[in-house]
Amino acid sequence: MSLINQQRIRIASTAVGSRDPWAGFCPCCQWGGTFLSWLDAMTWAALHARQDHCRFCIDTQMPAGREDVLGELYERCPVCTIPCADCDGLAVYPANYNTPTELVDDLAVLRLTPIFCDGCHGVAAVIPLDPEVLA
Ligand SMILES: [Zn+2]
Ligand SMILES: [Zn+2]
Ligand SMILES: [Zn+2]
Repeated sequence: MSLINQQRIRIASTAVGSRDPWAGFCPCCQWGGTFLSWLDAMTWAALHARQDHCRFCIDTQMPAGREDVLGELYERCPVCTIPCADCDGLAVYPANYNTPTELVDDLAVLRLTPIFCDGCHGVAAVIPLDPEVLA
């Protein structure tokens, strides 16, 4: 994970003749600086990734395994985000769906429907569409 984070930090040479010929910039933090040498820039990048980036997730999304109905799941990273007040961070995000509507349509085929969390819009539960039939 730390490798991924380090790769996101860009290191580039600045204008020729500059006093600090190397520039490092982290797009996700909108932060960077200029350095005397490439090694200085790399050291800054490694330090920044270690100190300021979460080791457990990518953009606060953390893989949360897979589920038969929902497929690949992500959850909000519990390490670097504050848990959702409504679901206490229990809601998951199916990776295969771009919109909640797609998920609702797919689950409807299986006579299931997702319950979305009001706070974080993740999927808090999946329930049968017609529980009286199964009961
Ligand atoms: Zn950063
Ligand atoms: Zn995190
Ligand atoms: Zn929530």
